[in-house]
Amino acid sequence: MASDIYEDGYSQGDQNTPRLNNIRAKMSSPNLENDETLCAICLDSSELIKLPCCGNFTTSTTQFCQACIEAICNMAGGIGTCPRCRERLQIKQGSILIPPPNIGRCVMCSHKCKELFRGTKLCKDCFEGVENPYRYLCKQCHRVQRIYHPMYKYQSTPTEHGNVTWACHRGCRNYTNWRIVPEDIRLIPIVKRPESWGNEDWFNEVRRIRRGEVEASSNSWCSAIFGDKILIFLIFAAVIVHAGIHFHLVKENGV
Ligand SMILES: [Zn+2]
Ligand SMILES: [Zn+2]
Ligand SMILES: [Zn+2]
Ligand SMILES: [Zn+2]
Repeated sequence: MASDIYEDGYSQGDQNTPRLNNIRAKMSSPNLENDETLCAICLDSSELIKLPCCGNFTTSTTQFCQACIEAICNMAGGIGTCPRCRERLQIKQGSILIPPPNIGRCVMCSHKCKELFRGTKLCKDCFEGVENPYRYLCKQCHRVQRIYHPMYKYQSTPTEHGNVTWACHRGCRNYTNWRIVPEDIRLIPIVKRPESWGNEDWFNEVRRIRRGEVEASSNSWCSAIFGDKILIFLIFAAVIVHAGIHFHLVKENGV
């Protein structure tokens, strides 16, 4: 009879099946979410899987089952997100995979077969260039143009023109070589500068920080010594003043 069937598909007679009792018990147990032998989502399955993204190195005790990860991917319309490390995940022929990178043509540099930056139509370099568009000098017409691509990466030194061309929209209107405007060099983060430019600036920066650490520790050593001297002086002064008052009182009382 239809009225005997509950919404969850179990008839009234099924209400106390061992499986239902088991699920009810689990749902009412507050510590179940920390039970590392069960899937952290359904709190039911103990058929835990190793995720291809973080499965090998995670220190988290949170575990998941295949069906829950599949549900996450289906909810997202195909490519889901790992609930632990946020990597993209996909189900292919029943297995969980990290989908291949989004390869395509970059709308900025027009290079085909580039890995496009997450959710954009820009390659990684152009994404960086759009965030920080530096000024460059054209090798042919010597005019300055702001370029939305890190052209400095193709310069073997900060003062030589790079070996990759970019369209000049200023004077010559050719594909020409470029070098960064000297004043803009300091805007490039030290760690992003090509290795051929030398690591001296970077290492000097590290040295400066290391020296600061050494000085800070020797300063605290000095102040500790100095602080001790002040304390000794104050005790000494207190003793003298006390002795002076005592001597004065003794003298006044004529003892
Ligand atoms: Zn699950
Ligand atoms: Zn992961
Ligand atoms: Zn690009
Ligand atoms: Zn030019």
